[in-house]
Amino acid sequence: MPAQVVVLGGGVGGTLTANLLDRQLGRDAHVTVVDPTGMHVYQPGFLYAALGKANGRWLARDERTLLRRDVDLAVEAATRVEPDSGRVRLAHGGSLPFDYLVVATGARLVGEQVPGLVEGAQEFYSLEGALRLREALRRFTGGRVLVGVAGIPYKCPPAPVEFTLMLDQYLRKRGVRDHSQVTLLSPLNRAFTIESASKLVQPIMERRGIGLETFFNVETVDPSAGTVSSLEGDTADYDLLVLVPPHRGQALIEASGLGDAGGWVPTDRGRDRPADLQERLDRPLRGPGGRQPHRLAGPRDRAEGQLRRAGDVLPRDRRRPRDRAALRLRAPAGATYPVAPLARGQVGLQPPLLGHRPPGPHPRGTPPRPHPNHREEPGMTTPVTTTLDCKGLSCPLPIVKTAIAIKRQQPGELLEVLATDPGSVADFTAWSRATGNQLVEHTTDGGVYRFVIRKG
Ligand SMILES: Cc1cc2nc3c(=O)[nH]c(=O)nc-3n(C[C@H](O)[C@H](O)[C@H](O)COP(=O)(O)OP(=O)(O)OC[C@H]3O[C@@H](n4cnc5c(N)ncnc54)[C@H](O)[C@@H]3O)c2cc1C
Repeated sequence: MPAQVVVLGGGVGGTLTANLLDRQLGRDAHVTVVDPTGMHVYQPGFLYAALGKANGRWLARDERTLLRRDVDLAVEAATRVEPDSGRVRLAHGGSLPFDYLVVATGARLVGEQVPGLVEGAQEFYSLEGALRLREALRRFTGGRVLVGVAGIPYKCPPAPVEFTLMLDQYLRKRGVRDHSQVTLLSPLNRAFTIESASKLVQPIMERRGIGLETFFNVETVDPSAGTVSSLEGDTADYDLLVLVPPHRGQALIEASGLGDAGGWVPTDRGRDRPADLQERLDRPLRGPGGRQPHRLAGPRDRAEGQLRRAGDVLPRDRRRPRDRAALRLRAPAGATYPVAPLARGQVGLQPPLLGHRPPGPHPRGTPPRPHPNHREEPGMTTPVTTTLDCKGLSCPLPIVKTAIAIKRQQPGELLEVLATDPGSVADFTAWSRATGNQLVEHTTDGGVYRFVIRKG
């Protein structure tokens, strides 16, 4: 009997995984994709739809046409995962049994979490939003345009910068650029989280007369006044506001008790394999009839074991050896996790190339310049009011969380922040200077950076 593999979501992740599993496992697995729309939508095209360069219809394809013949498609929303019984509940009633479950339901846009955003801002992170923005841009005859993000994390971090540069070109073509000021609102002290990319992009923005408002973490929008305010206490006027809405995991994840505070399935990217959901839930995940799939012998077992190791190759790839061009994932210098070669087209788990960095020496080899108050010694020396644990989070999350936490402090109170992202050393120094808060202490202890900030 083939293993039942259920893939939730027919987006990029779900479609690819379903096709690869079907190709690699053949008769050993029966793969079913569950998606409520039955359509695959090409999200990078939203940028082009918003700027009138793509027809919205071109961006959506019947999901069936993208799946291999043997992969089933259920046009249904999954409402709940029941790990103990090994079933997925479906919106129209009924359920699907699974031995293996792939959760690829993507992100949910929750603009309503920022007061005034839905009424006052445009967005290009959904097809509907992109088409509304297109109409707003057609009517736009000049004025102040602000582009920014209203919540971290969000998918495709470069998209706001990309959009801003494309918008500049669009306004020039329409002959309204001379009557417009275009400004990018950034949560950090640079245009983009990756410093080297910022160094390339910022001169281009300058040449094109695009403004950059740094350390602007959007808190509220006031549509009647035409203003947007930041956690840092700044307010900016706009005639057209374009914000990436905050993201959350899908409601199904929360309803199933599989999510963290943001509704995301937790994974641990600091290790050489994703954290076992079973470990996280602190209970065994059972297949139908109480079988534990990982104990089953045979190809299913092999497949699962291999899926869990970074860079492993799945069985049943019958192509000739010469077709297997090796594709080696390159890890940054200083990475400690193993990176195995992948044959082209095969499934592997990519270690964290850009994401959460393991604690320890700076991966780029150049240690960040220490703050004047920096001491290489462990232990707490300054009494603090509140502690914020940002360990394991990568830029710009430590700064965003600190901006939120400091809002709740009284002037003069001390906030302690613990972080492992080496980039946070430079970021906290710049952030405290820019926001009028004082970085009174900075110490390092075994790869954990401790910052003590006095609210200004
Ligand atoms: C404007 C923009 C530009 C981008 N540009 C790039 C780029 O240039 N390069 C790049 O690599 N990435 C880019 N991305 C990001 C990329 O599109 C996403 O990272 C990718 O789509 C994520 O894939 P996914 O499969 O996780 O989720 P998605 O593609 O979002 O798919 C999720 C699927 O889950 C389904 N689903 C939701 N809820 C349920 C449920 N309850 N039951 C069953 N199914 C459900 C949805 O219908 C959807 O089909 C861009 C994104 C945007 C918005």
